[in-house]
Amino acid sequence: MGDTRHSKVLIIGSGPAGYTAAVYSARAMLNPVLIQGMQPGGQLTITTEVENWPGDTHVQGPDLMIRMEEHARAMGAEVVTDIITSLDLSKRPFTASGDSGTTYTTDAVILATGAQARWLGLPSEEKFKGFGVSACATCDGFFYRGKEVVVIGGGNTAVEEALFLTNFATKVTLIHRRDSLRAEKIMQDRLFKHPKISLLWNHTVEEVLGTDTPLGVTAVRARDVNTGAVTDVPCDGFFVAIGHAPASELVKDQLELHNGGYVKVEPGSTRTSIPGVFAAGDLTDHVYRQAVTSAGMGCMAALDAERFLAEHE
Ligand code: FAD
Ligand code: NAP
Repeated sequence: MGDTRHSKVLIIGSGPAGYTAAVYSARAMLNPVLIQGMQPGGQLTITTEVENWPGDTHVQGPDLMIRMEEHARAMGAEVVTDIITSLDLSKRPFTASGDSGTTYTTDAVILATGAQARWLGLPSEEKFKGFGVSACATCDGFFYRGKEVVVIGGGNTAVEEALFLTNFATKVTLIHRRDSLRAEKIMQDRLFKHPKISLLWNHTVEEVLGTDTPLGVTAVRARDVNTGAVTDVPCDGFFVAIGHAPASELVKDQLELHNGGYVKVEPGSTRTSIPGVFAAGDLTDHVYRQAVTSAGMGCMAALDAERFLAEHE
C-alpha cells in the first residue's frame, strides 16, 4: 500500500493555471503540493512559438512551461510527478488517489486539469491514429517532410497547425465546415497569404482512407455540406484540430458542470459548487482559453483558497 500525505492546498494540473496557483499559494505560506499529471507543463508543451504571453515577444511553449515550473519550485511549491486517478470531494479532508499509489488528503483543492484534443469520432480516424492521423503538428509534423497533409478545423489551433506544417509538407489543405474561420485575424492573414496552403470551405471529413499493409493514410473523404458532393483529398497525414474538451472526468459526478463539461464557477471567482474546491484555466473556461487567462485564474484560485482556509481555520 502507498503512503498518505496531507497538504493545505492540493493543485491538480501543471499548465499555466496550476503553476500560477502554486506560485501564489506558496508565497502565501500554504506549502502547496502540485500534481503534474500525464502532460507536465500542459498544452503549451505541444506548441512552438507563443507570441501573446506578456513580456515575451517570442517564447517557445515548452520553454515557458519549464520556467513556470522552476518559478513554482523556487517559491516553495512541491511539484510531484503523479496522475490523480480519483478524487473524493464528499467529505473533508478531500482525498485524491495517485497512480503512484500515494493518497493525497487536502483542506482545499485547486483543479487545473485543462483540456484535451477533441476527435471527429470516426472509426477510420481511430484506426489510423499514430499512423497518419494526429492531433499535434508540433509532435508529428516532422514525419511529413516532402508530403501532403490535410488539417481540419477553423480555430486558432487549426490555422497554427496548418502554418507550422508548411515547414515540412509540400502542400497543406485546410478543411473547414463553414465559409469563415474563427481564428484570430492576424493568423488568418498569414494563412491566406501562404503559397503552400489551400482551403476547402464548407466541407466535413467523413472518412480517412488508407492502406492496411503498411498501415497508412492516403486521402480523406470530404463532403460538401451544401451540395452533399464527395471529394477525396489525397494526403499522407491528417491533422485533427477541432478544439478541446475539458478534462472534468475526475469531478463530473461531484461538481456542477456546464457548456458541455466545463466546471462551473461563481462568476468573478474560482469557487465551484463545493466550498473549498476551486477551478481555474481551460477546465472552467469555454470562452477565452488562453495561457494568460488560465494563469490569471490560477492566481484567483490561490487567493480564493487562501481566504477559504483563513475563514475555516
Ligand atoms: P493545460 O495547459 O491544459 O494543463 C492541464 C494540466 O492538467 C496538464 O499538466 C495535465 O497533465 C494535468 N492533468 C490533467 N488531468 C490530470 C489528472 N488526472 N491528474 C493530474 N494532472 C492532470 N494559448 C495562448 O495564450 N497562446 C498560444 O500561443 C497558445 N497556443 C496553443 C497551441 C496549441 C497547439 C494548443 C493546444 C493550445 C494553445 N493555447 C495557447 C492555449 C493554452 O495552451 C491553454 O489555454 C492553456 O495551456 C490552458 O492552461 P491550463 O493550465 O488551464 O491547462
Ligand atoms: P476552437 O476555437 O473551439 O475551434 C474549433 C474549430 O473546429 C472550429 O472552427 C469548429 O468549427 C471546428 N469544429 C469543431 N467540431 C468540429 C467537427 N466535428 N467537425 C469539423 N469541424 C469542427 O478550438 P481551438 O482552435 O483548439 O482553440 C481553442 C482555444 O485555444 C481558443 O480559445 C484559441 O484562441 C486558443 N488558442 C490560441 C492560440 C494562439 O493564441 N496563438 C493558438 C491555439 C489555440 P466552427 O467554427 O464551425 O465552430
